[in-house]
Amino acid sequence: MDVPTARIAIGRLFRSVLEFLDYYGVVDVEKRIPEETKAIFSVLSDEYQFKLHDALKMADDVEKANPIDPMDPEEDPVRMDCEECGNHTMVVNKESRTGYRCTFCENEYGDELPASCTICGAHMTSGDLENWSGEHGMEYRCYYCSGRYAADRDRD
Ligand SMILES: [Zn+2]
Ligand SMILES: [Zn+2]
Repeated sequence: MDVPTARIAIGRLFRSVLEFLDYYGVVDVEKRIPEETKAIFSVLSDEYQFKLHDALKMADDVEKANPIDPMDPEEDPVRMDCEECGNHTMVVNKESRTGYRCTFCENEYGDELPASCTICGAHMTSGDLENWSGEHGMEYRCYYCSGRYAADRDRD
């Protein structure tokens, strides 16, 4: 983890611990933490909130710029949940190898992302295709094009 990522992670962790303890009324944590520590954690926690707020706004903008055609149910989603950070910030991005990038954690991968077989164009989700990072972007292979179909058939 690099420093900004670690700071964000700690901030998020601390926030959820506070929410958890608060919810169950276990202890009044705020009172037990030394003032200095509390100040640091509150900065980290705010940083997380700020960053998330910005990321959600960025995702909103992408969504607005790429309106979905309601008449076309086959169209790929513009915005999804990020499988890495869990925020609703996974949006289409032309610079991404997978066509999607999270505005919060910059993750570009996920099993639920729409993808097409590089050979035959069969359209499914990334998790259903064999995939790896190729020289010119992501390479996807469906069950048939990956040779697995042939291998399974030969075995029978
Ligand atoms: Zn993310
Ligand atoms: Zn294929």
